Amino acid sequence: MSTQTESLLIKNPLAVMSGLRGDRARLGRVDLRIRHGRIEAIAPDLTPHADERVIDARSCVVYPGWVNTHHHLFQNLLKAVPSGINADLQEWLAAVPYPRLARFTPELARTAARLGIAELLLSGVTTCADHHYLYHAQGGTETGDLLFEEAASFGMRFVLCRGGALQAAGDHPGFSKVALKPESLDQMLADIERLKARYHDADAASMRRVVVAPTTPTFSLPPELLPEVARAARRMGLRLHTHLSETTRYVDFCKERYNRLPVEFVADHEWLGPDVWFAHLVHLQSSEIALLAQSGSGCAHCPVSNARLGSGIAPAPQMAAAGVPVSLAVDGVASNESGSMTNEAHFAWLVHRAAQGASATTVDEIIHWGSAGGAGVLGLDAVGTLEVGKAADLVLYDVSDLRFNGFHDLAVAPVTAGEPARVRYNVVNGRVVVDNGVIQGLDLDALRHEAAEGVKLLLAD
Ligand SMILES: [Zn+2]
Repeated sequence: MSTQTESLLIKNPLAVMSGLRGDRARLGRVDLRIRHGRIEAIAPDLTPHADERVIDARSCVVYPGWVNTHHHLFQNLLKAVPSGINADLQEWLAAVPYPRLARFTPELARTAARLGIAELLLSGVTTCADHHYLYHAQGGTETGDLLFEEAASFGMRFVLCRGGALQAAGDHPGFSKVALKPESLDQMLADIERLKARYHDADAASMRRVVVAPTTPTFSLPPELLPEVARAARRMGLRLHTHLSETTRYVDFCKERYNRLPVEFVADHEWLGPDVWFAHLVHLQSSEIALLAQSGSGCAHCPVSNARLGSGIAPAPQMAAAGVPVSLAVDGVASNESGSMTNEAHFAWLVHRAAQGASATTVDEIIHWGSAGGAGVLGLDAVGTLEVGKAADLVLYDVSDLRFNGFHDLAVAPVTAGEPARVRYNVVNGRVVVDNGVIQGLDLDALRHEAAEGVKLLLAD
């Protein structure tokens, strides 16, 4: 696959959305010049240079690349597993991912990752934070490495949230049910140190980052280790991520066991701050929203997965209004069935309006969550908006299909109409990774075959 950044001129798009809020959300009909991986100019009627490739965008609207802040790539071979299709989170965990954790050989994990990254890129994702928890005491650690390899080979910006558990106990259908031994703290931290040394780049436009991410703070480790893990992360200059408050059962457990609400519980254990973001945050008291806002802790809002598992609707508009950094994420596709950020944005736009009225969300705000909001929670300060000097991560949706005829405002089409909204070009760090609808260098038929074989292996008991 190509590795060169290109000099590009995106010419005559129908509309450009910036990912910013307010008056600067819409840039109108402007051209974009990209050089050395950055946006060099945004203005009407830019004149092509001799050395640059001109992309004719007359049938396209331009969005900032989507930043997916919570994913589980290994789940790409676990879509619609029948035993979990009508299950809630607790039953689903016991039926779908946990019984198969130890069966993910590096080969299967690689196939799942390739499938997942391809799907993400074709839905307009330019950055993915993968919460990877295929770790146990007897298992290898190479699946983390191969995720970096695959992301690099596709050209996607990638953040490895190194998950795992340090205890098998707790009210969670995890390790104990499948007789796996959890890692020790030393094992987990040693691997994170290794990953950091090998891959982590702290640059504002970094293509690869490592994050410390025990799977669930209430279940995956004893509370006394939470501050130790947080301090180790901060010593290493790494951010923190985990699942929090996904279901009412989770909140009840925290209240009964610790007499604290989940956000209070993590606050007690040094797990709040601008370097922390949580997946889900579905069930929150207003006092918890205030704690998140005061500390600058972020949210990976996963509305489709939350709906699919019947978990509820996270108060994302309320969090955003209170000043909590909100981002969008698809979560694993074993509880979503779609690894598409276009689909996620469409659903996020709708679901809060269904629950709270038509003023609950705007298209501009949803795009902001899915781009700048995501870059913000990941600390990728040069990413997430279409502005001069920022990293050139952007997506061109082709809106010439029949279904987009009749629109008075095509800028909003991908979010309001949802899929199929074809990503014709996906540009990451100035490199065209989806070119005229095709992922550069990918043998799709071979990948389909690999995926089908992988599903067969995971079906066998
Ligand atoms: Zn998750």
